[in-house]
Amino acid sequence: MSPRPAARCAAIGSSPTVALSDLVRELRARGADVLDVGGGDPDFDAPAHVLEATARSVLAGFTHYTPSRGVPALRAAVAEKLAADNGIKVDPDHEVLVTPSSKHALFAALMAVLDPGDEVLLPTPSWVSYQAMARLAGATPVPVPLTASDGFRITAGRLATAVTARSRALVLNTPNNPTGHVVDEREAEEIVAFAGRHDLVVIVDEIYEKIVFGGARHLSVASLPGAAERTITVNGLSKAYAMPGWRLGYAAGPAELVAAMLTVHQHTVACAGSFAQQGAVAALTGPQDAVTAMTAEYAARADAVVTALNALPDITCGRVEGAFYAFPDISATASPDCREFARRLLAEESVAVTPGVAFGPGGQGHLRISLTSSRPVLAEVVARIARVAQRDRRHAGVIGGASPFR
Ligand code: PMP
Ligand code: GLU
Repeated sequence: MSPRPAARCAAIGSSPTVALSDLVRELRARGADVLDVGGGDPDFDAPAHVLEATARSVLAGFTHYTPSRGVPALRAAVAEKLAADNGIKVDPDHEVLVTPSSKHALFAALMAVLDPGDEVLLPTPSWVSYQAMARLAGATPVPVPLTASDGFRITAGRLATAVTARSRALVLNTPNNPTGHVVDEREAEEIVAFAGRHDLVVIVDEIYEKIVFGGARHLSVASLPGAAERTITVNGLSKAYAMPGWRLGYAAGPAELVAAMLTVHQHTVACAGSFAQQGAVAALTGPQDAVTAMTAEYAARADAVVTALNALPDITCGRVEGAFYAFPDISATASPDCREFARRLLAEESVAVTPGVAFGPGGQGHLRISLTSSRPVLAEVVARIARVAQRDRRHAGVIGGASPFR
């Protein structure tokens, strides 16, 4: 008899974004020429001074375990950054935890906060792993459906439809993957007041903080009056500094919750990578011009892609305020099921996109296009999306399922 894996793993399944990136790697290794706008890995390299600091620390033998909360210099850099950029004041010795990836910080936060049977409010569409992590913690994710028509705003009214006596936490992501929405001040105040009324812990994933465009301004929920005592802020180096391979993130929040996260962390990873932490110190304390340059390029790509998509018949795409994804609505095409659209794009046009429904039921009918490819590649992706939509329209006309005049 072969060993049986735990039911929780079968119930959760693989990460759609990570599995798609693995599939693309596999297809490319077999010689396929795939345009990959599926995953969220920046196409830039980390700044040179970060590479040098990381390499120097390896060569100097900084290759052992570190203090489990993170090296003091990095915790100090994080506390300074949070004060300067985010208006969040934390004690680096008790209220900061350095983690191997922001993914692990989120997991430790959910494990530290949730008891089995608790409910977590998840405004959706939302990044694929929150609901999986909540389930791993034995809790129940409760989607709070948002709508494209008002730019995916979170309101107290919407949260009220999902909250119950068992609700224990709310997970926010701003700027948002996949919708591109950036929470504004009025929205943040409403969320904080709601969390206070229902005694919720707010876990805010700010990993795309630096990648905001045009008029949008990132606001940290924990900086609002009365929010810090119930908010865990999570951030990381993967996106802003193009450092996903360092697997480096951090969390800041009330000392008691950070101590509970430390328990999860000490028993699962002990500490973040030693030389990765030195690279992170260089990233946070060194020149920030690479971050500005990458963000400017993402902004130009967002503009170009949104404009090109909106010029296509039957496809609409909202403004991207932040993060690096376009999230067009393809539900008016003759192939309204986004999973099927994505499957056909890969099979017929060798383009990998993530179907919107991977981000919860609110994402049905959308595709997520990662803006981590050059503008010419993105233009080609849009052209291929147009071809699939066109082909669908012609077939629909011939088959007679839908009006050829739509
Ligand atoms: N949060 C969001 C919203 C993301 O898109 C990602 C990307 N993987 C992460 C967290 C995790 O980032 P990392 O683990 O690389 O720090
Ligand atoms: N955050 C990226 C994405 O959404 C990377 C993959 C992942 O960790 O989910 O595609």
